[in-house]
Amino acid sequence: MAIVIQKFGGTSVRDSSRRDIVAEWVYKASQSKDQVVVVVSAMGRRGDAYATDTLLDLIAGKDQTPAQERDLLVSCGEIISAVILASHLRDFALNVRVLTGGEAGVITDDTFGDARILEVEPKVLQSLLAEGVIPVVAGFQGRTADGRMTTLGRGGSDTTAVALGAALQASVVDIFTDVDGIKTADPRIVPDARTIAEMDYEEIFQLANLGARVIHPRAVEIGRQFGVPIRVRSTFSESTGTLIAPGHGTLDPWGHRDPDHAVTGITQLDHLMQFKVTPPSSMLKDWAYHLFMSLGDNGVSVDLINLFPDRVYFCVPPEKTQITQDTLKNMGYAFEAYDDRAKVSIVGSAIQGLPGVVGRVMAAMAQSDIEILQSADSHSTITLLLHRHSMEKAVYALHRQFHLDEEVPRT
Ligand code: ASP
Ligand code: MG
Repeated sequence: MAIVIQKFGGTSVRDSSRRDIVAEWVYKASQSKDQVVVVVSAMGRRGDAYATDTLLDLIAGKDQTPAQERDLLVSCGEIISAVILASHLRDFALNVRVLTGGEAGVITDDTFGDARILEVEPKVLQSLLAEGVIPVVAGFQGRTADGRMTTLGRGGSDTTAVALGAALQASVVDIFTDVDGIKTADPRIVPDARTIAEMDYEEIFQLANLGARVIHPRAVEIGRQFGVPIRVRSTFSESTGTLIAPGHGTLDPWGHRDPDHAVTGITQLDHLMQFKVTPPSSMLKDWAYHLFMSLGDNGVSVDLINLFPDRVYFCVPPEKTQITQDTLKNMGYAFEAYDDRAKVSIVGSAIQGLPGVVGRVMAAMAQSDIEILQSADSHSTITLLLHRHSMEKAVYALHRQFHLDEEVPRT
């Protein structure tokens, strides 16, 4: 018998009528040959009574609250959600049992607020499933080996779902949300962005990493390690969404690709700080080494590094501006800082070694009169740093250039 994990995000369980729709999905799955495990997020978004941000707002400014107690507070959101959803499921005469993350076997380290899963003990869930019970698990939380409540980082319910899927060798983890899958670009920028039918872990990981807020990156990591198929789909439509599975990217397992459809999606990140740093002339040896060591020691992680013998360009997130400036001043480096930067990336596992992709990126920028300030690439990405005001135009132009508005026939 196959096991299916159904994870429902905050907007899917926000109110009673939506929870009834969720209950229908669970009911439908329970009527098939599959065994079902349900994972939930806290109900709703900031302003909704028991949403994670609402709970956090209750202690806003109380910086002395230990991270362990914050975890106790926010973990209530998922527990409340699980109990209430279970009450809807019982209306469908389903035999359900609510479990905390810890009770479901999610064991983590003790990095409160951003804990890593160490292992999942599947015995409790397996015996419930064997008895015909549908476990309803509070997402986003786990417990340390000595029983303390932890949480997995914001958006972590996805990670709970995929981790349980890995431990139970589920046939699929369905991530139910309020959009019908992962789009070729942000639909607020490109109205005719399509839902990507299928992709591989590398592609989704890069999209999530480079700005698309689609799925918790750690969930993707675990999915990739264990080869768990993940489907991102809408609670409110019948669309099959996006399937993420081994060998389902633009590069097939045999290395075949369609050069006209080598790109999977476009993503963007706005509000980046770009720095140009020049060392004092007295210090032309080892300057870059000292620079990046000090930035690292001060907790600044840099991105888009372009290093030349006498200068370096790099970016930091806006919240690291002050500490970066202080570090540079203390070291006596001259610098210029620009706060109006954004980055736009194309992602596709089939672009590796494919001639002409960079040329097409440049063509799209040139035709739209967009100035490129920096660039970076990996085997599955090309990233451009741009002026913030040209970000939307660039996303739009790249979407067109790589034919992402066309339906891709898959073989
Ligand atoms: N409720 C948690 C959050 O808002 C976890 C999740 O929704 O995945 O971050
Ligand atoms: Mg989420």
